[in-house]
Amino acid sequence: MPELPEVETIRRHLAPHVEGRTLDALEVSDERWSRPLAPAELAAAVDGRRIEALARRGKYLIWELEDDVHLMVHLRMTGTLLLDPPETPRFARVRFALGDGHELWFDDPRRFGTGELALGGEARDAFFASRLGVEPLGPDFTSAHLYALTRASRAPIKAFLLDQRKVAGVGNIYADEALFRARIHPLRPAARLTRTQVAALRDAIVVSLEAGLDAKGASIDDYRQPDGVQGSFQHRFLIHLREGEPCLVCGRPVRKLRAAGRGTYVCERCQPRPRTAQAAARNSARRPARSAAASS
Ligand SMILES: [Zn+2]
Repeated sequence: MPELPEVETIRRHLAPHVEGRTLDALEVSDERWSRPLAPAELAAAVDGRRIEALARRGKYLIWELEDDVHLMVHLRMTGTLLLDPPETPRFARVRFALGDGHELWFDDPRRFGTGELALGGEARDAFFASRLGVEPLGPDFTSAHLYALTRASRAPIKAFLLDQRKVAGVGNIYADEALFRARIHPLRPAARLTRTQVAALRDAIVVSLEAGLDAKGASIDDYRQPDGVQGSFQHRFLIHLREGEPCLVCGRPVRKLRAAGRGTYVCERCQPRPRTAQAAARNSARRPARSAAASS
């Protein structure tokens, strides 16, 4: 799934092509995309409006249209936006007609992508307030802020980082990369991290996201830039998808485990397992022997 660096790369690519133009027509061929609005209702709200800015919040791309109308687009699993492709994309679901023959296509084989409407800045802010937490490349993402957020959590740190209501835009790739850089095990409880660990993690998140941006995103599945070109961050992963390969710091083979339901990559020498989890694993291993002894 595209994460913050991928969506921001798309935004930076598209902005000079769309800002100041008019969105002549939004043609939605799959009603799932525009739910709860029907395609015609969404089109009626946006068609013919000037595109004032293309913004981003978390993994959302925001079309800021004239008269304070906002279209919030989410790529989800497999969505891509292709500008003036040579032919109609195979899984085309939406066409943005931009005038002078320019067009942008939303291509999406899995069909989880969405386009949602907000009429007015207040409606837009309310939409994001219930869905997204702090913007990690913004000025509010301080280690003090992150420390306060972790205190209120019962989740392991990997699950915490994937929760968009805590930190917006971080997904599976950048969570793994940041935890490795900060030398924190993904199963460590967020609330147990020390101030020093949280400060290291805050910096590691920023550095990992910026590295992804520098590489114009990671193309491990469907992600492409709007000109169809892949990103290159997948060639620069420190830990993600490197199962069995030597850790770049200590040489120990990288392990794959599951955390928050996602394949998670870790070096358990550089990122030691939390002691509580080790103890829990030992206890659960012992329990059958004990109950056998009790029943005899
Ligand atoms: Zn290591």
